[in-house]
Amino acid sequence: MTDAKKPMAEANRISSMLNAVLGAERFPVKVDDLALEYSRQCFADSPIDKVQGEDLDGFDGLLKANKTRSKWLILYNSATHSEGRKRFTIAHEFGHYILHRHQQDLFECGDGDIETGDNNERDIEAESDLFASTLLMPLDDFRRQVDGQQISFDLLGHCADRYGVSLAAAALRWIEVAPKRAVLVASRDDHMLWAKSNMAALKSGAYFATRRNTIELSRDALAHSYSAVDMVDNRTGRAQSWFSREPSGMPITEMTRAAGQYDYTLTLLLMPDAEWQRPQHDDEETEEDTFDRFVRNGQYPVR
Ligand SMILES: [Zn+2]
Repeated sequence: MTDAKKPMAEANRISSMLNAVLGAERFPVKVDDLALEYSRQCFADSPIDKVQGEDLDGFDGLLKANKTRSKWLILYNSATHSEGRKRFTIAHEFGHYILHRHQQDLFECGDGDIETGDNNERDIEAESDLFASTLLMPLDDFRRQVDGQQISFDLLGHCADRYGVSLAAAALRWIEVAPKRAVLVASRDDHMLWAKSNMAALKSGAYFATRRNTIELSRDALAHSYSAVDMVDNRTGRAQSWFSREPSGMPITEMTRAAGQYDYTLTLLLMPDAEWQRPQHDDEETEEDTFDRFVRNGQYPVR
């Protein structure tokens, strides 16, 4: 299991320094300048020498040392149109530099790696994602943006703008601090691309094992094409239509928003606390796997 403390501690250390130098209104983080400057000052014998866009076939980003390991290069895919995704990718590669550069000389990162890599690779990917989200969206500032406010995709859009990240990245950050059970689902063509539950939801068994199974959206789902005629993006219904083990009286609030340049749909599911904790279930995916993945955290499949 990954120790989640180190990526967060390293990112928070850098955030404290930025707060001291730039003050609280310093977002979005200029992560390319930061990576250059920070590595030059702290690791002068092997700094990050360059951060640049390039046509990376099949990768989102890359971190590479020169032969003598005296300098490092970060590349991000210049074909990516989303500034948020670029920023997250650079922060992710900076994370590899801070956390893992003594383990490897080359890191090639893309969505595919997260799905197909072995456990070790997945762990360092998750650590770098956690570093990136912590660096780009520090929790204290994030809480100031959302505390006491009704959650909506408009509010999450405000956060995405403030931090210069994708709507999905902001929403994933929000479910971590959500005061109730929350699940974020990305879907396309009525099938889930990925889904992530916060700890409260996970503990109650409200999660989707999208990594191992192809899961079709319920016909009741707002994001299902069958529902598209309804023209609403927010409603409260029965939790059972999403999670069959929920009691019949359990409500669920469902919000949807097109994301990723309308390439896919995000659905945010909110439920009150469960009346029980960790029920038995018979899903193919073991609970340990899921917990492990949650604790590794910050596994943002969309950047
Ligand atoms: Zn990576």
